[in-house]
Amino acid sequence: VSDNRDDHPCIFCAIPRARYLAENELAFALRDVNPVTPLHTLVLPKRHVEDFFTLGAVELEAVFRLINQCRDDISIGDEDVSGFNLGVNVGDVAGQTLAHTTVHLIPRRAGDADMPAGGVRCVIPAKQRY
Ligand SMILES: [Zn+2]
Repeated sequence: VSDNRDDHPCIFCAIPRARYLAENELAFALRDVNPVTPLHTLVLPKRHVEDFFTLGAVELEAVFRLINQCRDDISIGDEDVSGFNLGVNVGDVAGQTLAHTTVHLIPRRAGDADMPAGGVRCVIPAKQRY
């Protein structure tokens, strides 16, 4: 997938296509191995890119098209899913731990959190409630 694996050893670039959950021409999807909720899905550009904000328009379109496809598959396959969180960690201070940008698609079900209000605001727990 990456054209320079030796320069950028990357666990995501090393994943064989046969293990992709889904893909299109510029993006692929995987299940998160440590899911926040069941069916927590990762959508990544095929190109090794660290910073989400440097993706090009065509790559962004491919990533978001695959996000929508995965959302549809999750919703059809699990009727308890009634919402989603969508998030990207950009930079060490934001919690990015791997050098291949990743969009998290996190299915939500009623009752999966005691206080779901605030959603992605809970990246800073003290700011979740307002
Ligand atoms: Zn990579």
